[in-house]
Amino acid sequence: MDELLDKKYIDYRQKVRKFADNIAKPYAIVQDEKEEFSVELGLKMGEAGLFGITLPKKYGGQELDFLSYIIAVEELARVDSAPAATIAAHNSLGINPIYSFGTEEQKLKYLPGLCTGKKLWAFGLTETNAGSDAKGVETTAEIKDNQWVINGQKTFITNSCSSMASGITLQAITGINDGKKELSAILIERSTPGYSTSQIKGKLMWRAVDNGKINLENCIVPESNILGNRGDGMKIMLSTLDGGRLSIAAMGLGLAQGAFEMAADYAQKRKQFGKPLTDFQSITFKLAEMATKIELARNTLYHTCRLKQLGLPYGKQAAMSKLYCSEVASEVANESLQIHGAFGFLRENHIERFYRDQRLLSIGEGTSEILKMVISRYVI
Ligand SMILES: Cc1cc2nc3c(=O)[nH]c(=O)nc-3n(C[C@H](O)[C@H](O)[C@H](O)COP(=O)(O)OP(=O)(O)OC[C@H]3O[C@@H](n4cnc5c(N)ncnc54)[C@H](O)[C@@H]3O)c2cc1C
Repeated sequence: MDELLDKKYIDYRQKVRKFADNIAKPYAIVQDEKEEFSVELGLKMGEAGLFGITLPKKYGGQELDFLSYIIAVEELARVDSAPAATIAAHNSLGINPIYSFGTEEQKLKYLPGLCTGKKLWAFGLTETNAGSDAKGVETTAEIKDNQWVINGQKTFITNSCSSMASGITLQAITGINDGKKELSAILIERSTPGYSTSQIKGKLMWRAVDNGKINLENCIVPESNILGNRGDGMKIMLSTLDGGRLSIAAMGLGLAQGAFEMAADYAQKRKQFGKPLTDFQSITFKLAEMATKIELARNTLYHTCRLKQLGLPYGKQAAMSKLYCSEVASEVANESLQIHGAFGFLRENHIERFYRDQRLLSIGEGTSEILKMVISRYVI
């Protein structure tokens, strides 16, 4: 696929790969073991221009296109899912809805700060009783004296608790019309009184990603903090997830690429029965199958990015890309671990973490079951 890419993408890939290999990778095993988000690495990613990748320079962004952003996520995930998840959640779930649906005033107020590389912004759909069923939210926002009074809680929110986390775009019930919930998207800064956070610990995977709960107790924000129109919450959240799905697909592709490279390297070095593992056809066939799946995953994902860049509909392909890339990540990580034998189980070998980290990809931002429902609506 790289043979057909413009030079600008190849150069950008090399730039991010250098950052990933030299700067991000040394944090991977340490932070995973500590189960702690690294603010130090977060700030370095900001300095490297990874916040606001696609935003116009006017708002402090890098003004690169969507495929460049996807390549950045892919390259980070090739070494570690944690920095990839931080960047993906900030760019596509944090910044993107404000840029796509905000007023000029909101864009100028929030976006330059979110591109400085020092602040992160979160996206809050999920609640204890609202996962796949996004309409199940119970958080409420009531208008009183031209201000929203917000009460509720959000959970599993990425980029919500560290010292870099600065606020959230969340979905809340802003009224009931004909017995139906009116759902709206509202911007809330973390400094708002009544806004509190708590870290979620004890995860199987993404242990160095900042995931937490946000409690909102009589949080008051101006009426103008509504994003888009009142009642447009679902539209805003779901269209944000279309782009978000491509980020998760890029994480799957990058993770699979990294897992494949580790397997190919190990198979050439490891000797059994007096020969390297690559002398056994059952091992080389595994590597051939892994490489084929990665190639197909990359073709699907990049094709979808091009549709998005051309302004063409891409919802079906986004769901397919996320479903397929997360499956490929799972299969490739599993086979890579198999090739590593017992050494693959040890924390000191990155494949152990890759094997755990891939598990999130078929659940976060739309489970595989929900994606199949979405795809079937397009194709039947
Ligand atoms: C590490 C991490 C980070 C996250 N970050 C964020 C974030 O930043 N912001 C945010 O809002 N959310 C976030 N989430 C939440 C995530 O998007 C949800 O976990 C996801 O949407 C699924 O919801 P659930 O976990 O409640 O599962 P559920 O919806 O309870 O689903 C449980 C199981 O039932 C299946 N199921 C549910 N409904 C159906 C159906 N109709 N038909 C068939 N099967 C069905 C599902 O596929 C799944 O297998 C994050 C989650 C994790 C783990």
